[in-house]
Order: sequence, then structure tokens, then C-alpha cells
Amino acid sequence: MDATLYPAVLAQLAALDVELLTDADERRYFSQDVADAGVLPLAVLRPLTVDALAAAVGMATAAGLALFPRGGGMSYTQAYLPDREASLVLDLAALDRVVEIAADDLYVVVEAGCTWAKLDEALKPHGLRTPFWGPFSGWNATVGGSMSQGTATFGTARVGTSGDNVLAFDVVAADGRIVRTGIGGQPGFKPFMRQYGPDLTGIFANDSGRLGIKARVTLPLEPRPGAVGGVSCLFADFAALAAAMQAVARAGLASEAFAMDPAVTRQFSGAASGFVQDLTYLRAIGAAQGHWLKGLVRMAQVAIGGRAFLGREGYHFHVVAEADDEAALRRKLARVRALCDVGGVELPPTVPQMVRAVPFAPLPVLSPSGGRMLPLHGIVPWSGAAALDKAMTALIARHQADCAAVGLSIGTSFFGVARSGLLYEPVLYWPDDRLLSHERRTTTDLPRHPANPAAAALAKLVGAEMVEVFHAAGATHLQIGRVYPWARGRDAGAMDLLQAIKHEMDPHDLINPGALGL
Ligand SMILES: Cc1cc2nc3c(=O)[nH]c(=O)nc-3n(C[C@H](O)[C@H](O)[C@H](O)COP(=O)(O)OP(=O)(O)OC[C@H]3O[C@@H](n4cnc5c(N)ncnc54)[C@H](O)[C@@H]3O)c2cc1C
Repeated sequence: MDATLYPAVLAQLAALDVELLTDADERRYFSQDVADAGVLPLAVLRPLTVDALAAAVGMATAAGLALFPRGGGMSYTQAYLPDREASLVLDLAALDRVVEIAADDLYVVVEAGCTWAKLDEALKPHGLRTPFWGPFSGWNATVGGSMSQGTATFGTARVGTSGDNVLAFDVVAADGRIVRTGIGGQPGFKPFMRQYGPDLTGIFANDSGRLGIKARVTLPLEPRPGAVGGVSCLFADFAALAAAMQAVARAGLASEAFAMDPAVTRQFSGAASGFVQDLTYLRAIGAAQGHWLKGLVRMAQVAIGGRAFLGREGYHFHVVAEADDEAALRRKLARVRALCDVGGVELPPTVPQMVRAVPFAPLPVLSPSGGRMLPLHGIVPWSGAAALDKAMTALIARHQADCAAVGLSIGTSFFGVARSGLLYEPVLYWPDDRLLSHERRTTTDLPRHPANPAAAALAKLVGAEMVEVFHAAGATHLQIGRVYPWARGRDAGAMDLLQAIKHEMDPHDLINPGALGL
């Protein structure tokens, strides 16, 4: 597109029901994710209504502008970073309405920019929630962003990831058409279940925003649990941890099951949070008990247990379990303890209690020591866990001396994904300067560091090697973005079909070009 025409196109777009940000700082902020920076776009376009979104998409693509959809901007796989100047970042954050809560038929319709925290607050008075109910970043991460990239955490040990727990999407195609997947696309039909003929919803889940712009999302609902509790255990090595995690997963006992290796625990046991933050969590844990006496007892237990256990070396495993009532919960937790009694030493369940007391705490986007952190991950079936750990441990050992020289450290977290999967997540930490995307989202007083290009380059190299180790292990990925090789070596027939769908939705390849490796 001829650059002299940009002002006219932007003026046309600005006349819609949108906010158009052209200030250089705003363009810089919105074209960065938590790890990297993209090319500065012409503007950031924030639609205020779904109709304005559809009109803006049609108008922008007709003018040849590429569109990079962004939800809360909480990802780190270059998933929405512009690759050209002739582009707009589409900020979906203002489309955040909870459109319909069907309390009888157990579904909810939200606009794509609604955060998980806002959705959960809206559902609470109805005694309902979605079975998958968000990532740790849910105070800012959106339902549309999570559904587009695939997200784990709250509910994942029980029901899997975000894409397993969605009923329908309203997706805007490049020409501004709205495509409705799911049963609600037929007049008079309610989207109370997912399957009726071919499943068009699944095609748009985890597409990295490549196949269209999600405007609305329909999710299933369930009653909130009557009782929630946790168990924490310490294991000497990965093999013992994995055996316990797999046993808990197979038995279907956990809602969340996650673990950390000694290197991760070390990151969080020191400077991470001081007395004031602990006190905040303690109050929230008390409040979450629903009754003042129960709250006081739980607060006292946690205060006595304290965070001293974080200093203990080993693999910390945390299970959050839910049940209809306290008696059923006690039975469930007893079964978890029995399955962990294969070398596990029980610890105070402070972490599970903290996590559930403030599920959507505004977590820092920097490491506890104020440096960068870059998580990578892969999901393997349990039969592949030992081999993956061996390969990843060898890779880390190979780079250990170089990492130490530039201050780069690596710790690994683990998450159970439904009954069959282990999400293995090495996180790279190193001292470095901040992007604007860190600066604006860092409200606590964390140390600053000068630019550390040697560590950043090594992190890229080690990260790329980790991606190859995951691929060789047959690992799947959430957050594919521009990092994981989803398209590599795929069945040709399946790829042709997907390319045809892409062409139908976006014939001139202007929606999130480059994402998904497509
Ligand atoms: C502190 C922290 C904690 C985190 N915790 C977790 C966790 O517990 N579990 C987890 O899985 N991840 C986690 N993440 C990663 C990330 O926050 C989540 O995956 C989250 O779901 C991203 O949502 P978002 O709205 O920020 O999406 P964005 O980062 O804005 O976008 C993600 C992808 O979705 C696309 N997209 C966004 N909105 C739309 C739309 N409406 N239509 C089409 N495409 C769209 C984008 O183009 C991009 O490809 C964490 C990140 C941080 C920084």
C-alpha cells in the first residue's frame, strides 16, 4: 500500500465506534509481548462494539493492512507481534462484556476481550463457573486470547485445557463477515452442547488468531464446588515426583496438580514476596473459608507452616482437589496422600491454599529478582515423561558453564493435564533490561538490570534447542505463536484442508501473518 494513503485510511477507521491510538509509545507497548518486540504498526485499533470490530476488519483489509489481534498481551511466543509497518494491532480489551449467563442451560456467552477474572466474578453470584476457568494470568489474560492460543491451569488436571472446554465462537473473517460456529448458529437453537454435525468450533481453538478474529466465545458452565483443599509433598527426584503425579492424574483426583524443581523453588523462596504480600495472601486465605472461625484456624495453620518449607531442597508437588462437601473432600485428599506416600514427605499446603485464595493475583511479568523470564513448554503422554526429562536435563547440563558465565539460570515446573498428559515447562531466568511491556506492568519495587545481550542471545539459543528436544519427544504445545513448529511435517491432506479454510477466511493473508507457521 502507498504510504501516502495511510492517513486517509486511519481517518476512515477512526470514524467507527473505536479508539485509535497513534502515539508512538502506545504503538510500542501494544506491539511487544512479555518476551519480544515487533515492528511498530501504524496504529492500535480498539473496537468498542462487535459491529465496529467487524466493520474495521473489513475496512482495514480492503486497504491492504495486516491485522495482529491482541487480547491481554500476556503471551511470550511472538504470537501477535507485527511483522510490517502497514498494519494495525487489534486490541480486543474493550470488548469485555458478559453477554448472556444461561444459568438453567449451563452456558455463558462473553465478548472475546473479557478477562477470566471478570468472567469468574460475574458467575460467582450464580454459584457457577466454567469447568476450565483460566490461567494464572487471568487478571489480565482474556477468554479470546486463551482460546486462540490454548491455555492451561485452573481446572486443567480435571478437564484439560481451554480448547477442550468451549462450545462456540463468533469469528470475524477478513472481509468483516461474522462466522458463527456451534449450535447457536441456527435460528432458535441454544448453544447448550458442542457436538451437532461437524465440529467447526475446534478448528478455531488454538489457531494463534490465524484463522480470524474471535468476537464472542460461548463456554459451558457447572456448579461451583462445595469444598476445596490441598496437599503438598516433597520428592527427592523427578522419577519419584512423576510417579506420584501420574498416579494422582490417573485417579482423576486433582483439579490442579503442579510441581516445581529445586531451581524454581529457589527463585521464589528468597526475594519474591515480602511480609506485606504474605499478609495479603493470609487475609485472602482466611476470607476464602467463608466463616470467620474457620478462616482464623486456616490462617493460623498457614502462618505456623509459613514459607520455611520453601527452603527444603527437592521437587515440590501441590495438588488442589474439590468436592461437593468437606467429608467428600477429606476422602479425596486422603487418597492423594496415599498415592504420594511413595517417598513423598508431606508439607504444609500453603501453596495450594494461596493459589486458590487469590487465583487471579496480578503476578509479575519479570522474575523475582527483576530480570527476564522465558517459559517454554511441551506436553507429553506419561509414557514419554522420563525420556523427555533425561533429554532436557542433558541439554541444560551441556550449557551449564555458559549459562553461569552470563547469569542465566533454568528451573522447571510441571503440570498435570487431565489424566494423560504432563506439561513440562523449563523457564529461563536472566538479568536484563526491561521492555516497555515489562515497565508498564511492573508495579512492585523489583531490582533493575542493565542490558545483557550475551545472556539474551544464549537464552534464544538454549530456547531453540529446547523446542527441538520437545519436537523429538512428540510433545504438543499450547501458545504455538511463532515459536513452536506446529506445521512441520504435518499430513499433507490435513494441511491442504487447513490452507483452504485459511483462504476462505482470509484470502489475502492479512490476519496475523506468520503465526502458527502457516
Ligand atoms: C505471569 C504470567 C502467568 C501466566 N500464567 C499462565 C498459565 O497459568 N497458563 C497458561 O497457559 N499460560 C499462562 N501465561 C501465558 C498467557 O498469559 C496465557 O496463555 C493467556 O491465555 C494469554 O491470553 P491473552 O489474552 O493475554 O492473549 P494474548 O497474549 O493477547 O494473545 C495470545 C494469542 O491469541 C491471539 N488472540 C488474542 N485475542 C484474540 C481474538 N479475540 N481473536 C483471535 N486471536 C486472538 C493473539 O493474536 C495471540 O496469537 C502466563 C503469562 C504470564 C506473563
